[in-house]
Amino acid sequence: MTDERHQARRVRHPLKMRRLEVARVAHVTPHMVRVTLRGDDLAGFVSAAPDDHVKLFFPTPAGTMNLPVFSENGPVYADGEHSPSRDYTPRRYDAAAGELDIDFVIHGDGPASSWAETASVGDVLHVGGPRGSMVVADDFDHYVMVGDATALPAIGRWLEHMPADRNVTVLIEVSSAEERQALARDVTWFVAGASPRMDEALAALPIPQGDTFWWVATESKRARALRSLLVEQRGVDKEWVKATGYWQAD
Ligand SMILES: Cc1cc2nc3c(=O)[nH]c(=O)nc-3n(C[C@H](O)[C@H](O)[C@H](O)COP(=O)(O)OP(=O)(O)OC[C@H]3O[C@@H](n4cnc5c(N)ncnc54)[C@H](O)[C@@H]3O)c2cc1C
Repeated sequence: MTDERHQARRVRHPLKMRRLEVARVAHVTPHMVRVTLRGDDLAGFVSAAPDDHVKLFFPTPAGTMNLPVFSENGPVYADGEHSPSRDYTPRRYDAAAGELDIDFVIHGDGPASSWAETASVGDVLHVGGPRGSMVVADDFDHYVMVGDATALPAIGRWLEHMPADRNVTVLIEVSSAEERQALARDVTWFVAGASPRMDEALAALPIPQGDTFWWVATESKRARALRSLLVEQRGVDKEWVKATGYWQAD
């Protein structure tokens, strides 16, 4: 039974395309690049939930940009190949400083990862959204967060803003020990392919006392499997699980 105390809140934002410039580039870890964006277009940027996403637009393989115009009927493009877009988390927005940080996992090929790997000060990035936010209630007794490196920006932001008296269990899998990063709360880290495995740890995790919200973000098939593990095998209320595929393995 869903308890009315724990209702998520949906917030809509005016959809806007912003043309921003890279102000700084820093390596958080060897394979996580933090790009700080600035620009007059940032005025009015709103991100109400730590797991919000913006759409980032990249050049086509021919090196051209063909950006959508947002209309009531959805995005409208000029003829020709569209600029590829990818979803990313607003890791930090500082309205006073006029800065937006995006943390990119450098995983190999792909318009987003390749762009971030070579990003330098002055480069332009087009950012659409966020279109809306689903704000998870902050009145659960316990939060369990599970993810891979792509989930780190959302988890990192969430932990920074969560009231200190909330109980949190965090399981994060990274590709190597060097990819662990400092976060606001204690985290149990896992290294992909090594023992112990994150999915087994989640399967064995004692169900916390009290009402618990479960948040999962990993590769898509894995996110579905983890959701099913929680809801079907462990009997967690499906209303209290948000499991999202953040990327798709080939
Ligand atoms: C709501 C949401 C928020 C997200 N926030 C972030 C974020 O803040 N930071 C972040 O880094 N990612 C984030 N992601 C994930 C990101 O959108 C995907 O990883 C995306 O596919 C990367 O695009 P690309 O152009 O680099 O690669 P693509 O062109 O999409 O894929 C190219 C190849 O790389 C593989 N691939 C893609 N991503 C990964 C990966 N992470 N690890 C290993 N192989 C991969 C694909 O299977 C494919 O073979 C988020 C996704 C969602 C849905």
